[in-house]
Amino acid sequence: MGKIDIKTFTLEQLEEQILNMNEPKFRAKQVFNWLHQKNVSSFDEMTNISKDFRQKLKDKFKITEIEIIDKLVSSVDKTTKYLFRLENNYIIESVLMKYSYGNAVCISSQVGCRMGCKFCASTLDGLERSLTVAEMVSQIYEIQKDSKEKIRSIVLMGSGEPFDNFDNFLKFIEIINHKEGLNIGQRHITVSTCGIVPKIYELADKKLQINLALSLHAPTDEDRRQIMPIAKKYTVKEIVEACKYFANTTKRRVTYEYALIAGVNDREQDAKEIIRLLKGSLAHINLIPVNDVKERNYIKSSKEQIKKFADTLINAGIETTVRRELGSDINAACGQLRKSYKY
Ligand code: SAH
Repeated sequence: MGKIDIKTFTLEQLEEQILNMNEPKFRAKQVFNWLHQKNVSSFDEMTNISKDFRQKLKDKFKITEIEIIDKLVSSVDKTTKYLFRLENNYIIESVLMKYSYGNAVCISSQVGCRMGCKFCASTLDGLERSLTVAEMVSQIYEIQKDSKEKIRSIVLMGSGEPFDNFDNFLKFIEIINHKEGLNIGQRHITVSTCGIVPKIYELADKKLQINLALSLHAPTDEDRRQIMPIAKKYTVKEIVEACKYFANTTKRRVTYEYALIAGVNDREQDAKEIIRLLKGSLAHINLIPVNDVKERNYIKSSKEQIKKFADTLINAGIETTVRRELGSDINAACGQLRKSYKY
C-alpha cells in the first residue's frame, strides 16, 4: 500500500490523524485550509507549518495531483471541458459551465460506469474504478485554479454513478461544503442518480440540503428496462416512493431528468404516464433533448415534439423545463463524457 492521499480526509478525520502524530489539533485546520481552500499541491507551500512537521506529513501522506491534459472551450457558450489524467493513466472528464448566476462544475464520480444506460457514452466500456475523494475534490480545485473563476455550484453528473461510490460521495460533500474548505453551500450541490433506491433513503435520512436529481427517462417499468438495466432491480414505483420520501424529509424538490429520444419515450402516452406518476408531489421535470451517442442509434426528438411533450406536462400542472444544451460542439453535453480519450 502506498501513502494515503491527505485530501481524502474530512476535517474530523484529519484531526484524528494529526493527534496520532502527537501534534496539536489546530494543525489539522491549518492543513485542511491549505488543501481545500488555498488548494496547494505540495506540503512545502504550507508556510505556517514548521519544516519538521511538513517532513512528518510528507513521510506519512501524499498529495495526488490530477493533471489537466486537455481543455476544450466551446465556441458557442464558453463551456469548457477538462480532461484529467489520474494515476495509472486513467482519464476522466469534467465540465465548467458559465451561467448568468454563476459558474457550475460538473464532476465525474467514477472512471466509466457499470449502470449500462443505453443512451449514455460513459458506460460504453463499463466501470474501470470508482474515484477517490481526493480525485473528486481535485476536479473542482484544478478547474478553479486554471480558469481563475469562482465556482458557485457543483453537479455530480459527469461519468459514473455517485451512489455506486456512496461513502466517497458523502465525504466529498462534507469536504466541499465545509466552511474551512471551499464552503460551497449544500443548496448549490446536486447529485444525479439512475435510481439506486436504498441509497436515496439513506441520503434522505442524512437530512442534507443538497438537491437530488433522478434519471427517470421512461415512466413505465417495461419501457425503462429497455433503456436502463437498473430498472430490472428497482421499479418506477419504488423509485418515486423513495424520491417522495426524500422530498418530504428534506423539504427539497426532486428533479426528474428525462432525455427525450425520438420514438422511444417521447409519445403522448409517456407524458400522460409521467403526470399520473408525479402529480401532486414536490417534483420538477427537466427534459433533455437526448445527445446523440454515435455508437447507439438514438436520435433526439424534434423541437415540435419536445414542445408538445413539455406543454402536456405543464398544462397538467407539472413544473417542467427544457434543458439548454451546453457545450454540444465539444462533446461536453450530457451523457457524452467518456472514459477514454483517444489522442
Ligand atoms: N449516473 C448518474 C449521473 C450521471 S449522468 C445518473 O444516471 O443520473 C447525468 C445525466 O445525463 C443523467 O440524467 C443521464 O441519464 C443523462 N444522460 C446520459 N446520457 C445522455 C444523453 N446521451 N443525452 C442526454 N442525457 C444523457
